[in-house]
Amino acid sequence: MAATILVVEDEPAIQELVACNLELAGHRTLRAESAEQAMQMVREELPDLIVLDWMLPGINGMEFARHLRGDKRTQGVPLIMLTARADEQDKLAGLETGADDYITKPFSPRELNARVKAVLRRRSPQATDDVVEAAGLQLDPNSHRVLGNGQPLQLGPTEFRLLHFFMTHAERVYTRAQLLDHVWGDHVFVEERTVDVHIRRLRKALEPSGHDRLIQTVRSSGYRFSTN
Ligand code: CA
Repeated sequence: MAATILVVEDEPAIQELVACNLELAGHRTLRAESAEQAMQMVREELPDLIVLDWMLPGINGMEFARHLRGDKRTQGVPLIMLTARADEQDKLAGLETGADDYITKPFSPRELNARVKAVLRRRSPQATDDVVEAAGLQLDPNSHRVLGNGQPLQLGPTEFRLLHFFMTHAERVYTRAQLLDHVWGDHVFVEERTVDVHIRRLRKALEPSGHDRLIQTVRSSGYRFSTN
């Protein structure tokens, strides 16, 4: 499944190289040439991953990483730092600010894609193609199919993404605003009651195999996927 990846890099040639390679690997990219611009973009849409250059004019990569980690809404977004320096001290400093991985320039497209894939698998399982399964419910991101006790279930595209997110983040409560951020990628322009509409549709789609009971309403908080 395609992830939305924000590339923050001020050198146009490198920004282009990184973004094009990620797009070739099937991802959708957002591009920013400064931390300030990236902050604005993140306010509007929460990406699945950020590739962040260390040396930026204005707010540098490390300060931006700290800013992201210090904000409840963005602290969970996986971060890969890009740097021209192979210095071990820099690497440690980068990882201390909460970066998940580190790539030293120059790098090959293959290395970039491998690291992105590894970080997504570890941190954003809803953005990978791995088949997920829980209590007889199986979701396959490759074929876009959902099986309930072996029987195909019919889900719309939004319900599919919603279920994928829930299944990869089971047993945790998410508010409507958080679901809009993670599933719709937009918490600004979409209304919260949209979530309720799609939760209703999702439950209806899961009814034939009885899996609708896994989508639980948590009063005055939000929703949770639970097999208990
Ligand atoms: Ca730079």
